[in-house]
Formats: sequence, structure tokens, C-alpha cells
Amino acid sequence: MNNGICAVPARRNLPNEHYLAGSPERLKLEAELERMAANPVEIPVVAGGKEIFTGRVKEIRAPHDHSLVLGRYHEAGPAELDLALQAGRSVARDWAALPWEERAAVFMKAAALIEQGYKYRLNAATMLGQSKNIYQAEIDAACESADFYSNNPYFASQIYRRQSESTSAELNRLEYRPLEGFVYAVTPFNFTAIAANLPSAPALMGNVVMWKPASSSVLSNWHLMQLYRLAGLPDGVINFLPGRASEITTHLLGQPDFAGLHFTGSTGVFNSLWKGIAGNLENYRTYPRIVGETGGKDFVFVHPDADFASAIPAIVRGAFEYQGQKCSASSRLYLPRSRSQELLDALVAETKKLKVGSPLEPGNFVNAVIDKAAFASIKGYIEKARSEAGCHILAGGKCDDSRGWFIEPTIILADKPDATTMVEEIFGPVLTVYCYDDSDLDAAYKLVDATSPYALTGAIFARERREIVRALNALANAAGNFYINDKPSGAVVGRQPFGGARGSGTNDKAGSELNLLRWISARNIKENFTQLDSWAYGYM
Ligand code: NAD
Repeated sequence: MNNGICAVPARRNLPNEHYLAGSPERLKLEAELERMAANPVEIPVVAGGKEIFTGRVKEIRAPHDHSLVLGRYHEAGPAELDLALQAGRSVARDWAALPWEERAAVFMKAAALIEQGYKYRLNAATMLGQSKNIYQAEIDAACESADFYSNNPYFASQIYRRQSESTSAELNRLEYRPLEGFVYAVTPFNFTAIAANLPSAPALMGNVVMWKPASSSVLSNWHLMQLYRLAGLPDGVINFLPGRASEITTHLLGQPDFAGLHFTGSTGVFNSLWKGIAGNLENYRTYPRIVGETGGKDFVFVHPDADFASAIPAIVRGAFEYQGQKCSASSRLYLPRSRSQELLDALVAETKKLKVGSPLEPGNFVNAVIDKAAFASIKGYIEKARSEAGCHILAGGKCDDSRGWFIEPTIILADKPDATTMVEEIFGPVLTVYCYDDSDLDAAYKLVDATSPYALTGAIFARERREIVRALNALANAAGNFYINDKPSGAVVGRQPFGGARGSGTNDKAGSELNLLRWISARNIKENFTQLDSWAYGYM
């Protein structure tokens, strides 16, 4: 029995490696890529630690190469879901009763394993399965995943140390219990690190989790699941349930002990989940916690006094890294009309330099979009813009699915601020530009604020301090993550807690204490040391 108060290390971020040609890290990654591409994997459901090959299988192919089969995954059905639920229920009490530092140690070990070499597996799987280039895979699958695993224990320690005040006559204690039931974690395809965080954050706080990975990222997510076993996570705490989203959701939301949803994905799906929860409300033992980080239509606003030379590369990266498939990707750009031509010329010239192709060839900045449905949807937006009055395609626009799902980085100039591609989330390499009247900045900020239903990220490029403050105030509710003289993406765990409001979610800030607070239910215990002689008040 250890009665000491454990001090986990202060948070830090895992530095990314650079993978220069011939470097040791590059050789290790290349070996892993080769091994994974040559050995298709059979991925089971994992319920209560049991690997189940259900026989209902889906193939996994590389988005940049239709002919490359990376494996197959087995879909969970009602029997596997019931097994997982049963396993979760039977392990819940023990897991919650473990001293918190024991739970923390599991995830800290997962972070250490990533740093010590497991990262190459995660990176290779993310490159092959989700078509990320080396850099995008490294900052996501390796660094951000490790950061969530190692930083969350520190945030948890900050929460657990918060106690209510006591006096000599009474002792007060705050007990931070997990939720009474299981958490359903539903993860998106676009960040391996989000798939790492959504199940592990509630588990760290003592919950058991039913995890449904996205169908297009099962490969990297399976390697996360294996990492938990290596790190010593007890069976049944996190259950891995790939399969048909609506079937799994109906089954899990129908359970009386459903206690929380940890979701990241599109706004439409989140809304449908929320309605599903509302429809079952009477059946639940407790009001479920609902955490959802959803879509974005993230803006970059270039003030007339900005340093244009540094704005252009940031805009290019913000819009086209990972093919614009980041919830935080810049997708609407506001340029001052009086100087728009020089900016547009520079932007188009730089964008035309971006090479599109396989993530395995290091010269390619832009790789494939995730799947056929995404390709069709993004292509549809580009085609619509071609025929929409007042829209002009200045760069890109070509789509090629002969080998993989490739879409050129595309810039659309819109004469109207509410053109379709200025308003709707496209989730692809498409940036729409509107040139605002810079004689009326207040009107321009109002436009930015009101154009889309989302409020995830946004950026302003400006120089003069009063102008920066004016934008900050005018756009106070337009973005949960606001950037000054930087692209609006690339949030780092602990440094830029991440999330947005309005149509972008519940703003529960992944990568901070604020998120972890949602996975606990506090009990205050008051112990009285005095004796009451009479019920009567003295003044009576
Ligand atoms: P998606 O909504 O299609 O899928 C997300 C998850 O929901 C997947 O696991 C999917 O299988 C599941 N799902 C789909 N239909 C469902 C249903 N009917 N019931 C239950 N689950 C269902 O999103 P995606 O394509 O994986 O990811 C892209 C979206 O995620 C974009 O809208 C993007 O902005 C958003 N996103 C937001 C953040 C953020 O932090 N705000 C981060 C990453 C991605």
C-alpha cells in the first residue's frame, strides 16, 4: 500500500524527427513500410481482450494505390458488442478502484513505447492506410498520440489534487469517480492521434470504453489497440469494435449503462448521435456526457498591413497539408481588395509548385484523399464551382482516380462572399478566396463571423497591435482556436487545447484538463467531528 502522493512529470511534447534521406529514423520507417505493404493483416474485433474473427470482412486498400491491399478487418455484430459490454461491466469496478497513478502509468508507458520505436509502426500504418506523407504521419501518429498519452496523466493529476476546503470541525474530500457506465468513443479517419485520445482519455479517468474506429483508419487504429496490450492495459477496459456505424451505435446507445459519448467527426453525424441519445433518455441510469468535436470552415483573414511574404507559405500549408482533410484546414481566405492581385499571384504561383502523388515519394506534398466517397464529394464541389456564377478556378481543379484518389490543390476565387465553397465544409484540398473591401474592415469581420455555421479555427495576419485586438474582439465567437500570424492548424497537445463551438462541437478542448473533467463525476464527502446537543438554534 503506497500512501505517497505521486507526482507525474510535468507535461512535455515529443519532438518530431526529420527523416532526412539515409537517417536512422528514415531507414527504420522505410523498413516498416516495406514490411507492412508486403504483409496484409487480418484485423479482429477485440472484446474483453478476446480477438474475434467474425467473418464479416471489409478490405483495406491504400488510398493512393487501389491495387495495394493492406489487410482486412472483421466487423463487430450484436454478439461481439454484447461480449464487449459484458467485459466492460465486469472490469469496471476494478479499473476504477485502481490508484489513479496505476492507470496513468499504462498510458505513460504507451507514450514511452511510441518514443522508443513503436512510432514507426504507427507512422507506416498511417502513411499507407490514410495516405499521409512522412511529416504529416510523424506529427500525428507518433508525436500527437504520444503527447495525449503522456500529457493527460499530468492534467489528471492537476484535477485530482483539487480538493475542497476543510476545518478543524469537519473533513471534506472530493472523490473523482468515473461515470457510472461505459463511454462510447467514435473516432474519425483523419488523425491517428484523435483515435488514440478519444478512448484513452476516459479510460485514464477510470471509465471503460467501447471504441468504434472509422472504417478508413482501421489499420493504424489496430496498431493503437495492440499498443494498449503492450502497455499493460487490462482486458475489457478499451474494446475495439470496427463495423457498421449505425448498427453499432443503435446497439450501444440502447444500453441503460451508456454514460458518455466521446466523438470527433462531422457535424451531421454528431447531430444524429445526439438525437439518438435524446431518444433513449428515459432508459439511462444517468444523464450521459456528450462531447463532440465536429466540422469546420476555417478562415484566414489577411489584413492590408500584414507581412505578405510570410502569410503566403502559411496559407499554402494551412490549406493543403494532408489534402485539406484537417478539421482545422484553412478553407476560406479573405484578402484585402486593394492588394489582392499581388497576393493572388503569389498564392497561385506557390500552389502550382505542390506535387501530388503517393506519400511514399518524399517530394509529394499532397497525397490521396481518403476514399471514393470523399473523392466524389470533393470533385462535386469543384465541378459545381466551375459552373457557379462568379466562381473562377485559379489553380488546380483536376481529379484523377485512375491509380488512387488524387485531387489537385485547388484555389477558387469567389466574387460573392457566400458562394457555396466559402460556406460549406469540403474536407479536401480546396481553398476559396474572397477579396473584401478594405475601406470597411468592420463589415469584413462581420462577414467572416456570419458566413459559416462553424466556429472551429481561424487566423489573422496583421501587424499593427490595435488592428490585431480589433480582429480578436470582432471574431470572439468565430473560432475556438484563433491564430495570429500563423496558419489555423497544427494544434499541439497542452499548448493549444483544441476545439470549437457553434456547429463545430461542444468545445471541450482535447489536450487539456477541460476534456478530462467531462469523464469524471465528483462526489464530495463531508465528515463531521462535532456533536450536536440539540436541534434548537441559540437565538431561539
Ligand atoms: P464522419 O462523421 O464521417 O465519421 C466519424 C465517425 O463517425 C466514424 O467513426 C464513422 O464511422 C462514424 N459514423 C458515421 N456515421 C455514423 C452514424 N450514423 N452513427 C454513428 N457513427 C457514425 O467523419 P470523418 O469523415 O471520419 O472525419 C471528418 C470530419 O470530422 C470532418 O467534418 C472534420 O471537420 C471532423 N473533424 C473534427 C475535428 C475537431 O476536432 N473538431 C477533428 C477531426 C475531424
